[in-house]
Amino acid sequence: MKILVINCGSSSLKYQLYNMDNNEVLAKGLVERIGIEGSNLQHTPAGKDKVVFEQPLANHDEAIKLVMEKLVDPECGVISDLSEINGVGHRVLHGSKYFTESCVVTDEVKEVVRKCFDLGPLHNPANLMGIEACEKLMPGVPNIAVFDTAFHQTMPPKAYMYALPYEYYEKYDVRRYGFHGTSHRYVSKRAIEMLGNPEHSKVITCHLGNGSSIAAVKDGKVIDTTMGLTPLAGFEMGTRCGDIDPAIVPYLMKKENLTPDEIDTIMNKKSGLLGLTGRSSDFRDAEEAMNNGDERAKLALDMFRYQIAKFIGAYYVALGGCDAIVFTAGIGENNGGHRAAICEYLECLGVKIDAEKNKLRGADIDFTGEGSKIKTFIIPTDEELMIAQDTMELLNK
Ligand code: ADP
Repeated sequence: MKILVINCGSSSLKYQLYNMDNNEVLAKGLVERIGIEGSNLQHTPAGKDKVVFEQPLANHDEAIKLVMEKLVDPECGVISDLSEINGVGHRVLHGSKYFTESCVVTDEVKEVVRKCFDLGPLHNPANLMGIEACEKLMPGVPNIAVFDTAFHQTMPPKAYMYALPYEYYEKYDVRRYGFHGTSHRYVSKRAIEMLGNPEHSKVITCHLGNGSSIAAVKDGKVIDTTMGLTPLAGFEMGTRCGDIDPAIVPYLMKKENLTPDEIDTIMNKKSGLLGLTGRSSDFRDAEEAMNNGDERAKLALDMFRYQIAKFIGAYYVALGGCDAIVFTAGIGENNGGHRAAICEYLECLGVKIDAEKNKLRGADIDFTGEGSKIKTFIIPTDEELMIAQDTMELLNK
């Protein structure tokens, strides 16, 4: 069975074609600058070099059409006919309270995705465009929607409610939803396997990338997570501020004469590591700057580590203990320095790490130190594979 996985952003599209018989990636790629000047497709067939095609692409229909062409191209293609694709799995950002798991796309599902445009204004419209382009270009091939919010739907009300007037929850669905659900699901499942599949498990998963979130997972189900109504909540990220005193929002709006959209942009795109350092949103750049004596880069990285350690402490209490802490995504998988610094805060909980194993990367790694009360794991996330597996399971039902 062959499954195409698609992740549409507002002006970009990532894809991977899987052979599900052996979970092999046959080809993957990225379309950038859709609808703006300089559109291009970067296509990489497995085992071959990346090929780049530059041509105007006005919308997602045109982008997906070009991807299809390249998948069957005699030179860089990996299949002989599009009919070999059995299904398409789409990442959809916001499923609000409506989706607790992945589902086959129907008119009703599309309507609900549309209903969530307000909650995911940058992503949901693009996700729907991707689905509709596939419906048009591959009629009869099922589309499956995999929601970033779905895995967090098991949170109890005490974790997902905000202490605002209740009517806003009733009228506008204002509550915590959580994101990166597919990643938290993948790595927590893997962590439970690495623990030997115990009947009961308490796992804290730290997805640390450009966007970051942490989840508390009890017996395989999320009971709390750091992101909220939107992905802005939680702790310091590449360009997002994470949790701040909410009174800062009207205060700054008045002081700087800002509109709601302007303050939103400041908090989402100009804050976090970028805002603090005034340099870059990339954690590698900040580390280099810190090593060269940049005080603000040091402050930003200290804050990042401290805030993460505080959430892990909070989730230790929420879970009533912890069997394993998992680090994943760009920073979590690759940066031993941050992992070590975060775990140092956790020594009071009995966490000890193996400094040598903490240097490893590129595989599932248990870097628990001798005598540690909690296991520490590095687990490379694979959201695309999870989407492909969900798609296959739904097609086989
Ligand atoms: P996204 O949220 O865009 O998927 P990623 O999970 O790819 O983000 O994470 C991007 C972040 O990971 C960047 O801040 C980058 O600096 C960091 N990162 C990636 N590779 C490394 C590495 N080898 N060492 C340290 N940090 C890394």
